[in-house]
Amino acid sequence: MRNKCADAYQEVLSTGRLNSDNYTLADFYTIDSDDIFTKTVPYYEYVKDYKEKKYYSYQRQLVSACNHRVKVKDPWTGEIKEMIMMGSNNYLGLITHPKVVEAGINAYQRYGSGASSAPLLSGTYDITRELELKLAKFKGTEDALVFSTGYSANVGTISALLRPGDVAIIDKLDHASIIDGCRLSGADLRTFKHQDIDSLEKCLETCKDKYKGKLIIVDGVYSMDGDICPLPEIKKMSDKYDARLMVDDAHATGVIGLYGKGTAEYFNMEDHVDLILGTFSKTLGAVGGFVAASTKVINYLRFYSRSYFFSAALPPNICATVKAAIEVIEEQPELIQQLHNNVEYLHSKLKNLGLRVTPPGTGIITVILNDEVTLRKMSKVIHEKGLFINPLPFPSVPRGEPRFKLSLMATHTQEALDEAANIFEEACNEFDIIESKVYAMLASV
Ligand code: PMP
Repeated sequence: MRNKCADAYQEVLSTGRLNSDNYTLADFYTIDSDDIFTKTVPYYEYVKDYKEKKYYSYQRQLVSACNHRVKVKDPWTGEIKEMIMMGSNNYLGLITHPKVVEAGINAYQRYGSGASSAPLLSGTYDITRELELKLAKFKGTEDALVFSTGYSANVGTISALLRPGDVAIIDKLDHASIIDGCRLSGADLRTFKHQDIDSLEKCLETCKDKYKGKLIIVDGVYSMDGDICPLPEIKKMSDKYDARLMVDDAHATGVIGLYGKGTAEYFNMEDHVDLILGTFSKTLGAVGGFVAASTKVINYLRFYSRSYFFSAALPPNICATVKAAIEVIEEQPELIQQLHNNVEYLHSKLKNLGLRVTPPGTGIITVILNDEVTLRKMSKVIHEKGLFINPLPFPSVPRGEPRFKLSLMATHTQEALDEAANIFEEACNEFDIIESKVYAMLASV
């Protein structure tokens, strides 16, 4: 089979450069070579060409807080540029909420800058435990455990519970940290088609006599398109096949459910999920992660979750910040409604432009294109016009369906939403997207 990395390597050897338009990130994964560094040579030229064309929109440096409008150091001019921020996970704007910031500052003054140790040694503080109990109450479980990231919460929880001879059954689009946790556990991993209950059932049927323990894992809200998992149907399957059920609420916490408690609240199914995962790096405005479950399961995880006890504990100032963020969600549920109003408003504007947009309902709207070079060129134009959004190329989304992800905030003003829609319209006109047959066809679907 043709190896594109080898082609790229040859192109670099013969011309001294690489045309990045002909490649994607996935092409540099492997090359047949005795030197593990060979693949970095064409990849280096790929990124260099990408940057020279000014398509590279990663790691733009913010020089202000991540508010609904931000100041960004323009990577091409070096100037400080004001932009509308629609590329963060700060859905309710809590990163700069006065109560959240004040709680963090006070805790910083009281406890200093770090936790100094792993949680089982001297890294647990009174505020750490207060946060765990707060999270458990918020999620309607008996207890909770905090980790230093959402990634390590997934990896640690899954690998602590699954053993060789067990099986993890996951949606094909589950987050990478879920996949990594499954791989680390030594259990087998089976995937079902995205959001497809028939495919889940087929998978469970095949697995039912072959494995001992079974764990179904889904994202509550999928991070790429913001679609919500069909929890009632999934729960029926987990009951029918005696499988445990885990939901990753990273993009659901503070976003769905009347009081922002996440997927179980949204479906009125609190008490029906065995393990609820979450992160502090999105709505909760900081960094860290958690798992909420029964007392016995949490107790077990404290000593069997390697990413928990072999890693430094969350700093107490972060614990205080996150606890205050949950309190704000409880005190100001109107922020959640405001987020949804903003999503509905911008969604209808983009749809009316004739764009192919994913349905509203969470904090995420995606605009799907049909070729990656256009995505790259449009990224440049949209950046120049002052809108900060994230392009999602293959392999993070299916080949031939690259997209822009817009993450909205409760704090966006109508003026900013109108401005974002105008920027999109101008950029689409520049690339003749709206008039194109493909878009006319897709918009009518
Ligand atoms: N799960 C999902 C669904 C996510 O989107 C993310 C973050 N992208 C994580 C887990 C990991 O969370 P963290 O950023 O806190 O490590």
